[in-house]
Amino acid sequence: MIDPDNPGLRGNGRESLIEIIPAVLIALGLVLLAASIWRTQRLIGILPDKRPWLSLRNLMGFLAVGYGVYLYATIRNLPVNKDLIASEVFFLTALFMLLVVQFAYQTIHDIMHLDELKQIANTDELTGMYSRRAILELLDDEFQKARRFGFPLSVAMVDIDYFKDVNDTYSHLAGDVVLREVARVLQTRLRKFDVLGRFGGDEFLCVLPGTGVAGAISTGERVRARMNELQFEIIAPDELGVLEIGSTIEGETHCSTVSIGVATLHNGMQVPNDLVQEADAALYGSKEGGRNMVSSASPAGDRR
Ligand code: GH3
Ligand code: MG
Repeated sequence: MIDPDNPGLRGNGRESLIEIIPAVLIALGLVLLAASIWRTQRLIGILPDKRPWLSLRNLMGFLAVGYGVYLYATIRNLPVNKDLIASEVFFLTALFMLLVVQFAYQTIHDIMHLDELKQIANTDELTGMYSRRAILELLDDEFQKARRFGFPLSVAMVDIDYFKDVNDTYSHLAGDVVLREVARVLQTRLRKFDVLGRFGGDEFLCVLPGTGVAGAISTGERVRARMNELQFEIIAPDELGVLEIGSTIEGETHCSTVSIGVATLHNGMQVPNDLVQEADAALYGSKEGGRNMVSSASPAGDRR
């Protein structure tokens, strides 16, 4: 309701509020700019390439000066050309936005590139399975989980028997075919949550979470038996067909067997490498025992 004796009261209040809003908004903008400059300065301190961010910080500095002059002129009602300052601030703001978007684009691009590099480092080029680095990282995770929650955990070390002979008799390319096929067979014989990596050369490491001694031995046996059945047909290198094993001795077949060593987590183990070492020792036992067999570091009746 307007007071009939004092009709200007509401109008005066609103006018003074409208007058004060620009100054308050500019002052708030100035505070935000100061915070942004402070943040950028901290970023500059940790980045190796500081130049792009220095230009952004300087631009924010110019903007802050523009804001300050405009605020001062507004508060003191000075007869300066505020349109000129405002248009300058508009221009600098647009430039600022462009720089920020450009930096964001560059940063996202760099992160994606890093992801790609990580993916390459974690993948074995020949077989497409986890690399040694990646499988050891995964084993580390599983080891910590198993220790914390008391879950069983086993690993199986799989090594192709007389693999050097495949390379020497047929060719290195034929050896690669055998390696890829062994990797594929291993993958099909494991459960969904088992993880598999190429440990090096003709050796593969399977991490078997939630698996005790008996489970690890039967998994190893499943893999060994399947490999024993697998026949590589030897065909001429330019022929299309089954596995091109790179030899000219047509009609012949080759069988690559594997030896396996399994180990299961027990209280005496401190680090994941203890599991790998025990599996390696068991694998050595399989090789010594005549190859094409599975050995366990722990007795089969062990209920771990
Ligand atoms: P053992 O039964 O004792 O395991 O005999 P082995 O011949 O398999 O012995 P060894 O582990 O010494 O041989 C591994 C061979 O694997 C030697 C190396 O030339 C070959 N090799 C390693 N990496 C690759 C690869 O990426 N491709 C091919 N074709 N051969 C490889
Ligand atoms: Mg071997």
